[in-house]
Amino acid sequence: VKTSGKMNYRFFDREYYEAVRAKIDRNAELRHALETDQLVLYYQPRVEMATGATCSLEALVRWAHPTRGILEPIDFIPLAEESGLIVQLGEVVIDKVCAQIAYWSRQGRDVVPVSINVSPRQFNESDVTEVLRQAIERHGISPRLVEIELTESSMTADSVHVSQSLENIQRLGVALAVDDFGTGYSSLSQLQRLDFDVLKVDKAFTAELEKTREGSVFFTAIITMAHALGMRVVAEGVETVGQARCLKQLQCDEIQGYFISMPLPATDRQPILPRYVL
Ligand code: C2E
Ligand code: CA
Ligand code: CA
Ligand code: CA
Repeated sequence: VKTSGKMNYRFFDREYYEAVRAKIDRNAELRHALETDQLVLYYQPRVEMATGATCSLEALVRWAHPTRGILEPIDFIPLAEESGLIVQLGEVVIDKVCAQIAYWSRQGRDVVPVSINVSPRQFNESDVTEVLRQAIERHGISPRLVEIELTESSMTADSVHVSQSLENIQRLGVALAVDDFGTGYSSLSQLQRLDFDVLKVDKAFTAELEKTREGSVFFTAIITMAHALGMRVVAEGVETVGQARCLKQLQCDEIQGYFISMPLPATDRQPILPRYVL
């Protein structure tokens, strides 16, 4: 069957139209979710190798969807990033984390810091420092209990703006971490110039640790460099005792991953684990 060019064109148009339509619908749904408070945060512990103690938690967003269950970030963060809704979503996350820290602090126990993921678009298009400052003040918490995680792709924009924003965040007393290190485009000189407190090495490198003899080369180099620059190193995605032992030997400062704990919903107390002795 021979179809005319015109028919094909119309068919293509329709598919395209429907794809756009679906995106608009999902966006509207996500906006509604923000308005009706459907986002929840899970918390994943990070453990300090020297002591085995839980030293901080990472807040990871979930969408408690009314019919589809708990949705993971992969199902809605990319869309939010594309549409710009990530700015509002990010503000909701910052507010929720600060409220949760305030709640935990009122329970009268020692509270460890919580790190918050900030997306590139949120970092570049909104005044994250101001949002943070207001949330910290509104909930009456110590800025020392908050850490911000940024990926290398946040730092590709105008470098003056980037370093100024980073400095402003640190001036609040909030620590800064580079997230997914090793997967992006940042140069080592950029790292030296920007004064981060923590370097989180992407889980892809952790996965290589026990596979090949060269698996630890990257970690060894990064840890040496990070320590020379006064940064702590966190290995992400640690799933086995072998990886954890190897990282301890390499003098990695902290580990995070399923080996320690899955991300957990918030309860009355912070998810502080018993000291882990390797
Ligand atoms: P991320 O910041 O790199 O967070 C770590 C991800 O690795 C989490 O996935 C976590 O559940 C998962 N993970 C933890 N331990 C292990 C492990 O041992 N093995 C493996 N394979 N995975 C592990 P999750 O919660 O699905 O989040 C995915 C990404 O979504 C995050 O990656 C982050 O980029 C983004 N995200 C999560 N919450 C937020 C948020 O509040 N705001 C923004 N802007 N992005 C967020
Ligand atoms: Ca992160
Ligand atoms: Ca990460
Ligand atoms: Ca430093």
